[in-house]
Order: sequence, then C-alpha cells, then structure tokens
Amino acid sequence: MPVGVHTSIAGGLALSVDRAAELGCDSMQIFGRNPRSWGFLPVSPTDVSLFRKRRTIAGIWPVVIHTTYLINLSSPDDANYEKSVDLFKNELMTAEDLGADYLVTHLGSPHELGPEFAVERIEDALAATAKSPYGKKTMILFENTAGAGNSFGSDLAALGGLIERALGLGLPAGICFDTCHAFAAGYPMKTACDIGGLVKTIERDVGLENLKVIHLNDSKGEFGSNLDRHEHIGKGKIGLEAFKRLLTRPGIRDVPMILETPKKTPQDDPRNLRVVREILKERKKKK
Ligand SMILES: [Zn+2]
Ligand SMILES: [Zn+2]
Repeated sequence: MPVGVHTSIAGGLALSVDRAAELGCDSMQIFGRNPRSWGFLPVSPTDVSLFRKRRTIAGIWPVVIHTTYLINLSSPDDANYEKSVDLFKNELMTAEDLGADYLVTHLGSPHELGPEFAVERIEDALAATAKSPYGKKTMILFENTAGAGNSFGSDLAALGGLIERALGLGLPAGICFDTCHAFAAGYPMKTACDIGGLVKTIERDVGLENLKVIHLNDSKGEFGSNLDRHEHIGKGKIGLEAFKRLLTRPGIRDVPMILETPKKTPQDDPRNLRVVREILKERKKKK
C-alpha cells in the first residue's frame, strides 16, 4: 500500500519529489502553486520535464495535487465564483502538465445559502470543466471536510452525488477521505464496530471503488467538534488503536495514503511515516 506525505514545493516543483524520495515515500502530495495567491502562471516546460523525470526515477505513485484553499466552488458571490472556477481549471491543467494522478479539492462554502445551492454551483463548475480541454487525464477527487461553519462537503452522501454527476459529464472523479475531517464531522471511528460502520457508510454513500486517496491525520479536535486541526498519528483524539483497525480493513488497506500531519520539526514526517509503516507491518504478520 502506497504511503507518503504532503511535501513542500519551496525552491521549485521538482524539489518536492526529492523531498518525498528522501523520506522514502511511495506516494506524495503537493500544492501545484503558491496556495495563497490568485495569480496563475502555467508551469514552464523545463519544470514540467524536471518534475516528470525525477518522479519516474523516484518511482512515486500516486502523485496528488491539492488545490489552493482560495478556490470556492460553492461561492454565492458571482465574481468570486468565476475566479474560483477559472483557477480550478488552471490547477487541473497544471496537474495534467505534471502528470499528476489526482487533483484533490475542497468544495468551499455557500455561506448562508445552504447545501442545495452549493451542489448547484459545483455542478455548474463541473460542467464548465467538462467543456475545457482538461479533466480527462488527472482525476478530480472531492475531499470531505470537517464541517466548520457553512462549509460544504462534510457529508459523504453529498460527495457521492457529485461523483455521479461528474462521471455523467465524462469527468473521472472520486473522493479523498480525510480521517481527521471525518472524525471532526461526526463519523465515529473509535471502536471496531465504528470502523465497520464507517466502511459500510463509505461503500453505501460513495462506493469503495471511488475511494482513491486517504488523508491520514489524527485530530486535535474532539469527535463532532467540526474543528479542522490535524495531529500526529496516534497522538490525537482518534488514537492509535483506531488507526490500527482502520488500516486493516479490506476496502481501506490498499488505498494510497497521504499524511498531512504537523511539521514542527524535521523529525515529524519520518516519525509519522514510521508509525504508519509499523501498523502495516503488524497487519502483514497477522495475515
Ligand atoms: Zn485538504
Ligand atoms: Zn486533508
């Protein structure tokens, strides 16, 4: 099962591959660009070829790109919405240029206009994307969110509906399941029974075949708190036992994983990777 981390693109996109390879990652995630800026420039052909070469040498799969948080595909503000759809399409172009397997996106917030409005807006954004030259090579993944405020996308059933819509438009799509966000949004994960229920819920609401990436994060926030605060694996409110149960489940255990755990010191990523690999090794022994 591929395990990796979100790595920095500081100094150049290709350096993110070196960072992932140094950590021994099988998979990796990056921002395709400065995540705090609306400005967009396509990646230069030199950067594209460097990135692709180093990725092939490092043997990394999958490469996941996360869109900027500025994008709000549910925005009730027309100008902000248009800007968001344009940047989303541009980020998809970058992802395809780089040969990324998946583009992960959050679905934004309709503010007080509610989830039905959000679905309408996102469906329009998907229709616009389907008309663009992009979206056939890199698969779009909708990420479940922690459900803070009026943000849209914490309900797996709603994400399942959007996948169907995207597929209907000829856009390959799936979900990226974030463990911290799901726990904070009120999906129980503590007991073996909880984990069994969670897998059944994913199967019913999204389809296990559409679960393409797992963001593996423990949660600083309490169960159902709607707080999007990531914690080191085993050190948060989800806890090590829950991760052990989750990672042994058929339907879950072979899905590529990306850690988005805190990076306060250079030891943090290696330690979280070690914890996950130890769980996976234990599982193999038991088989
Ligand atoms: Zn995310
Ligand atoms: Zn995430």
